[in-house]
Amino acid sequence: MTLPDLGGLRRVCAGNLLTDEAELFSYSCDAASGRARPDVVVLAASAAEVQGAVRWCAEHKVPYVARGAGTNLSGGCIPLRGGVVISLARLDRILVVDTKRNVAVVEPGVVNLRLQEALAEVGRFYAPDPASYRVCTIGGNVAENAGGPRCLKYGVTSDHVRAVEAVMPDGTLERFSAEDAGCDFLSLLVGSEGTLGIAVKVWLDILPLPETLATALAAFPSLDAAMGCVSDVIAAGVLPRALEAMDRATIDTIEASAPAGYPRAEAVLLFELEGSPTAVERDLGKLRALCAARGATDLRLATDAAQSDKLWEGRRSAYAALSRTAPSVSVEDGVVPRQALTAAAARIRSIAAEHGLKPHLLFHAGDGNLHPNIPYDSRDPEQCERVRRASHDMLKAYVELGGSISGEHGIGVEKRPAMLWLHEPPALELMRRVKRAIDPDGLANPGKILPLPEDGSADGVPALRRRPPSDAQWSLIERVREKAGAKEPLFVVGTRTKLPAEMAEDKGEFLTTRPMSRVLDFDRANFTVTVEAGILLRELKAELEPEGFYVPLPLMPGTLGGLLAVRPWPGIRRSILGLRILLADGSFMDLGGKVVKNVAGYDLQRALLGSWGTLAVILEATLKLSPVRPEIPNELPKPELPQFGRWHRKLKEAFDPDGRLNRWR
Ligand SMILES: Cc1cc2nc3c(=O)[nH]c(=O)nc-3n(C[C@H](O)[C@H](O)[C@H](O)COP(=O)(O)OP(=O)(O)OC[C@H]3O[C@@H](n4cnc5c(N)ncnc54)[C@H](O)[C@@H]3O)c2cc1C
Repeated sequence: MTLPDLGGLRRVCAGNLLTDEAELFSYSCDAASGRARPDVVVLAASAAEVQGAVRWCAEHKVPYVARGAGTNLSGGCIPLRGGVVISLARLDRILVVDTKRNVAVVEPGVVNLRLQEALAEVGRFYAPDPASYRVCTIGGNVAENAGGPRCLKYGVTSDHVRAVEAVMPDGTLERFSAEDAGCDFLSLLVGSEGTLGIAVKVWLDILPLPETLATALAAFPSLDAAMGCVSDVIAAGVLPRALEAMDRATIDTIEASAPAGYPRAEAVLLFELEGSPTAVERDLGKLRALCAARGATDLRLATDAAQSDKLWEGRRSAYAALSRTAPSVSVEDGVVPRQALTAAAARIRSIAAEHGLKPHLLFHAGDGNLHPNIPYDSRDPEQCERVRRASHDMLKAYVELGGSISGEHGIGVEKRPAMLWLHEPPALELMRRVKRAIDPDGLANPGKILPLPEDGSADGVPALRRRPPSDAQWSLIERVREKAGAKEPLFVVGTRTKLPAEMAEDKGEFLTTRPMSRVLDFDRANFTVTVEAGILLRELKAELEPEGFYVPLPLMPGTLGGLLAVRPWPGIRRSILGLRILLADGSFMDLGGKVVKNVAGYDLQRALLGSWGTLAVILEATLKLSPVRPEIPNELPKPELPQFGRWHRKLKEAFDPDGRLNRWR
């Protein structure tokens, strides 16, 4: 594109611009396969410089793309429309490590490994550990909602970010925190791939280093046996810190390149356990029995750090080993409910065979997160086309199996078409409206996440099998549609235990969610439950707890929907995997789903928490269950209606443009 005079931009970033063709070339791509030339690169050294650059772009209507280490695998850093790349690599200070409050404050360019090293010195660690941790940055992790092996036990990046300071598309510097009253804008920003704002400072939860760590490797006669063992382990209430799987092809490649001494089996599982010595010993006993029951032939236990490193080194070097086998490796990413892992692995193998390709399977198996890696020659257009087709077929298979198109690598450019296969049109339209409300000129990382006309359509793709609304859901949907037809305001409540006086004015008709009180899907193997929003919390716990399943939500009076809508405690967001919501115009949609990792578009389900029913009606929720009773606060004060600010109003514009739902004074 033709840029205006760069003088203004040069001034805001103290001359740290790159315009040389060779330098621009190296900022034209990331770890995915595409490429586009930026017009200029800003090497920002402070939040003020990032802000200056965004303001310059906003003033001159120039698109811009934030960049960390450029390791993302979905094309997120490619400047599709040219313009400015804003590199955050120089904002690399660890500002605070507070072991009393267990928080670290860092700039976005801090490399994950550097943070881990600094924390280890004071007896702490940061849970998310992407396999790229040696190079990727915290800003990139936040923008991609990155995962990693340890996320099985600890959850993904979004579960560990306490607050973010971000330069928003209008050039303002804003701080969003998990503690903020009102909707959870922080969760919306995390995973938004730089399309809603640029993180310039991040507050992260840190954890004490575990007392004891043990690594075990088990060899299985078949991949199916290994996948079966993954379900058995989780069902037995053992929650390893990490549970990774590799197939024979991957093991052979690792052993040929950088031998880790792995057994030549059809599949191996790599477990990491942590806790007190007694707890680790108890879990190891259970693991031995469960692995043996699935025919494991070899169970190796690392008893010291050096042996453990050796077992992990094979897993960590897998990508490097694979890249030595071909000019390129396509690193795929998808996620399914855990019990569908065996079916997903079979589908991957048959799809690859149909396209004449050989997949190497590497899974964050405990999370149902699959990475089929396909070595190929990117210089051969015919091979590239086969890889593209195979990859699309695999994504469709995950969707058919009730999963999602990305567990951790994000959508970027590469998976934009797949968004059409996963999401229904109303959900995609809502995401578009959210993007427009926050970035009306569409300058922040344009062309990412949301499908474009050239991405085709969902025609011919087997639709995700969505459960039709229950009778109780239908009657609420129909009533809301009548109100929409009459353009009348409406007010949705649960049991009115939390309704504040400030919302009593101009309230329109009260509609209660209470008739929707059924447990719709209690999936014990997957550790998820889907329930209607009108269920009382005590009813929900009474269904789950006698069977040894726990939901980390406070036991407050009232309905589940009411609790989610007012979010009296920030920890609630960790339990929410999916929501079915109803908008004031009568359209309804599913957001998220039954998978524990899901980075397929904006996290609207978490964003809705704390919105007090002002954005949408929650019809049902899918919750993550735990095999252990969680320590959560149950005695919470009655929440107070927040002051809804500017960013809430922007979301209101996207969700309820006519302002008819749950008005407040
Ligand atoms: C070998 C290999 C292994 C990998 N393993 C994993 C894994 O186990 N788990 C996993 O989750 N990922 C993995 N990845 C993918 C990748 O490393 C992650 O997505 C990582 O979080 C990207 O960080 P980065 O600093 O490289 O970000 P970049 O690639 O530079 O940027 C990623 C996206 O974030 C945006 N962005 C960057 N910084 C900011 C910011 N400060 N504010 C707003 N937006 C920003 C960019 O515009 C882009 O859209 C792997 C990649 C490779 C190559």
